[in-house]
Amino acid sequence: MSEKKRILLIEDEEAISMGVSDALSSTGYDVQCAADGKVGLELGLTGAHDLILLDIMLPFVDGFELAKRLRDKRVFTPIIMLTAKGSEVDKIKGLSIAADDYITKPFSIKELIARIHAVLRRVDQKNVPNTVRVNDLVINFPRLEMTKDGTLIELTKKEAEILRYFIEHKEKVVSREELLENVWGYKGAHNVETRTVDIHIVKLRSKIENDPNTPNIIKTVRSKGYKFDGVIK
Ligand code: CA
Repeated sequence: MSEKKRILLIEDEEAISMGVSDALSSTGYDVQCAADGKVGLELGLTGAHDLILLDIMLPFVDGFELAKRLRDKRVFTPIIMLTAKGSEVDKIKGLSIAADDYITKPFSIKELIARIHAVLRRVDQKNVPNTVRVNDLVINFPRLEMTKDGTLIELTKKEAEILRYFIEHKEKVVSREELLENVWGYKGAHNVETRTVDIHIVKLRSKIENDPNTPNIIKTVRSKGYKFDGVIK
């Protein structure tokens, strides 16, 4: 049995907060509550939760701002927004805020739990374990290192993030812009030098590939980007 999933509920209406918290706890989630945006942001920034339920109208820091600040700080905990009115839904869609889903009040607990399940399931599918074997490499992401033929090689944080991103998206071609946006955190990346990506890939290949000039793990796809072609064991 896997350990309990931790949910952070940021909601200032006590009745909703208590109702949701009780229901989720009895469903088997570990629920932590915050009654305003300031406390919510502090807790959210710890990254210690599997999912955040985020109200929009909150004291001190509203839900939109809170989500933005989390993403700016590279905290990617999935977020389900709790919205009170249609205009908020428009704003969620329009701003392409980093919310994974939203639910409109009043909602039933049953519907909320279904949404939570769906978001967590999507995340689980993408989750890369801490240690991954690729070809003759054993990569340890939290330790930022890998072994290759028994030799320990250190990875920079960026290199580890790039590798992880490729493994998460091994089924597709990954463009330089996509990497800039998701690994570097640049939005609308076309203004940024995509050569930054190429430089990092060259460096990474020199560490992971047997022959960096004819790569087997991260291959170049002409005029498109790169694709992961390693064998994950
Ligand atoms: Ca509220």
